[in-house]
Amino acid sequence: MVQARDICKAFNGNEVLKRVSLDIHKGEVMAVIGPSGSGKSTFLRCLNHLEVIDSGSVVVEGQTLVSTNAQGQAQYAPDAQMRAILRRMGMVFQGFNLFPHLSVIDNITEAPMVVKGLTREQIMPKAQELLRKVGLLEKADAYPARLSGGQKQRVAIARALAMEPDIMLFDEPTSALDPELTGEVLRTMRQLAEEHMTMLVVTHEMGFAREVANTVVFMDQGALIEAKPARAFFEDCSHPRIRSFLDNML
Ligand code: ADP
Ligand code: MG
Repeated sequence: MVQARDICKAFNGNEVLKRVSLDIHKGEVMAVIGPSGSGKSTFLRCLNHLEVIDSGSVVVEGQTLVSTNAQGQAQYAPDAQMRAILRRMGMVFQGFNLFPHLSVIDNITEAPMVVKGLTREQIMPKAQELLRKVGLLEKADAYPARLSGGQKQRVAIARALAMEPDIMLFDEPTSALDPELTGEVLRTMRQLAEEHMTMLVVTHEMGFAREVANTVVFMDQGALIEAKPARAFFEDCSHPRIRSFLDNML
């Protein structure tokens, strides 16, 4: 579903991604783990054009978002094609990023109305179904400020799903939450995984990586060190950098 090849990205000469390549298959749940500062967020942001890459390529469902020309420069798809590709990807951030001035239901209907040109009436049944799915139908008319962090994050997930993405990107979706609120968000994500949503999840939740992810990817210092089936990753992990990272996590 997504092919990333040799992604390079530097900030002011500081190489943050060093030829990172990764394939995500339809229905796969991939956990990305690694130390803070290893480039996990930047990699996710490069996939959906929140960062501009220096070189490499990203192909989504056969459509090229960006490739590198003979001169070694990244070339992005024309605007309309780029927008169509980016629309296939939903993103959930650590900090929720809900629209504070909109009610929960309006947070969910906003993008389908603005981006897809649907009327409120057209999107409403779907929006309500998504709120029910994340267990927040009774909060439809509440404003984000009145929600707990876990509730905000579940709204953010519903909002991303309202655009009917083919893949969901999560950047540490539970890191800003109090420990007692992470479970409800992880349960929502687990449910999505069970429905075979393709997911790329940057996380420090080793339980989630072990139990829900099919594949675990380890990044360190801007490089992808290992990508393995989850079970194998945790069972026979011999790489010293990964070993010491896991020893510190568990
Ligand atoms: P992770 O998500 O694994 O913690 P990041 O992708 O956020 O890592 O960051 C990787 C490196 O890139 C860090 O050294 C960080 O300081 C740097 N970095 C990230 N974003 C920027 C930016 N916009 N400008 C300059 N440096 C950045
Ligand atoms: Mg990060």
